[in-house]
Amino acid sequence: MRSRSPTRRCLICGAESCSPGWHSLLEKDRGICQSCFARLSPSLRSFSLGGWKAYYLYDYGEFFRSLLYLFKGCGDYALAPVFLLPLAPFLSLRFLGRVLVPAPSSTEGDSKRGYNHVIEIFRKLSLRMEPIFQKTSSVKQSDLSESERGKVRDRLAFLPGKECVPKGGRFLLVDDVATTGSTLLAMRGMLLEKGARDVAALVLAHVEKKGGNAIAFAPEEGQ
Ligand SMILES: [Zn+2]
Repeated sequence: MRSRSPTRRCLICGAESCSPGWHSLLEKDRGICQSCFARLSPSLRSFSLGGWKAYYLYDYGEFFRSLLYLFKGCGDYALAPVFLLPLAPFLSLRFLGRVLVPAPSSTEGDSKRGYNHVIEIFRKLSLRMEPIFQKTSSVKQSDLSESERGKVRDRLAFLPGKECVPKGGRFLLVDDVATTGSTLLAMRGMLLEKGARDVAALVLAHVEKKGGNAIAFAPEEGQ
């Protein structure tokens, strides 16, 4: 009797993958179906943070925001692979030799959902991950005025024992969503002061400020 291979289902919509051939091979690697992949359409693009080039992967559209909300806000851990899996091999090569440094999130948010969402998303890359930073205040970025956000560095510190950054080290700061980018800029400054050679940044999405539009589904930065 012929053994049936287990049914593969899209991690996002649950659609069954039944097409033989190269499409199904791709879907196996992605964990998501063609249709969801097309809706997300990730690609590596850059944006400027005060003249520093940072990278992002997704448009901050409703589909992406709802997925991130389910993963980050509702603790739907099964979605962890969907954000990077399609691009993980490419990104791992693109940033080869860099140490991944996750932006710190609040310990309260992490313990509520049971995991650190940034670490779980970016651990799909074949790069060494090294949490270096911690938040010294539980104040949410979103509760701060723009000028207060600029002082983010006052609320950021090296984790105990992580102050000795390897001289000449190359780092890739990672986070889910960048709004002002102040946390990324602060981490970059602190690493460069410690002797890092090069610091790059990769986020899933960045939010362009357009007159303070309220954005549905958006978990607040810094949660
Ligand atoms: Zn799907």
